[in-house]
Amino acid sequence: MIRFFTLAFFICPLCSTFAQPTEKAEKIVIITLDGMRWQEIFSGMDEQLVNNPEYNQDARQRLQEQYGASTPGERRVKLMPFLWSTIANEGQIYGNRLLGNQVDNANPYWFSYPGYSEIFTGNVDSAINSNDYPPNPNGNVLAFLQKQPDLNGKVAAFGAWDAFDRILNEKDSGFPVVCGSEPCGGTHPTPREQMLNDLKRDAYAPFGASERLDVFTHYAAFEYLKDKHPNVLYISYGETDEWAHHGHYRDYLDAAHQTDQWIADIWHWIQSDADYQDKTALLITTDHGRGDLDKNQWTSHGQSVPDSHEIWFAILGPGVPGLGEIRQPAQRYQKQFAQTIAEWLGYHFQSNHSVAPGIWTSIKP
Ligand SMILES: [Zn+2]
Repeated sequence: MIRFFTLAFFICPLCSTFAQPTEKAEKIVIITLDGMRWQEIFSGMDEQLVNNPEYNQDARQRLQEQYGASTPGERRVKLMPFLWSTIANEGQIYGNRLLGNQVDNANPYWFSYPGYSEIFTGNVDSAINSNDYPPNPNGNVLAFLQKQPDLNGKVAAFGAWDAFDRILNEKDSGFPVVCGSEPCGGTHPTPREQMLNDLKRDAYAPFGASERLDVFTHYAAFEYLKDKHPNVLYISYGETDEWAHHGHYRDYLDAAHQTDQWIADIWHWIQSDADYQDKTALLITTDHGRGDLDKNQWTSHGQSVPDSHEIWFAILGPGVPGLGEIRQPAQRYQKQFAQTIAEWLGYHFQSNHSVAPGIWTSIKP
């Protein structure tokens, strides 16, 4: 099946429409790195930013040794080795604008709540223009999947930021959303989950009460994956955005590198577990971009930062040929991810709003 799909691609290299992956996935893990720029995804550490004493936190030499190299291709491998080995060999990576391959927010705001809403509802609701917006009235694909007989009770979401209860409308959606300072493990945490809860409760919280460090989100989600075996799991990491807002380029790079390692750990576990091996899809993306045209705007995003609608995504799993970095000029949007998630699992997402087609369809710029 995979071979046929690949052949079809090469026969028609300019065709921008792929119906759907030829093989369905049984399970999916969706991962977001908040505010992670496409610039570092495709070119690695930025030489100007790392050499700027305003941003490098006196770690220029260590960062140069760890992530530095003479070419963007070498630098990106050093920053995100899993993305640029396993996914580059066996999956697909979209959004390198230097090659004309574009991925963008369709929403006009370019910050978190509108971005996550766009990812999971497959739609732009222009009324959603604040991170303090109340519970999302737009149906999301995770709630849709949770209602399918084969997936009921098999959907869960974990996030560092406490807004996910509202973004995914936990109350109406019917699946667990464990985020912010909430403990994991429900009413019967395992000993490991109890330990995680104790650590999270007592740990330093540099971003304030609404967000916790990613290490707690990661291990809580990973425990859930191993213990409860969900079919649909969403994990939202937040530190890349937080450290960037602080102007800490050292911590932004280290957070991206650490998250790449965690994604590798999750994928290696998936590929070693009989229930998940070769049946599990992986989608990795971000909620918004950040500035780069004005170098000092790398810390920020939103309508005052004109290039912060520029994003990226990566996919790995059943039915996806290993094309690596997508080099064809084409345009895709964040609102295409919701239907992508549904179609990959063999469903068609319908809701109380319109839903954009999956990424297997390229939309003309
Ligand atoms: Zn932000």
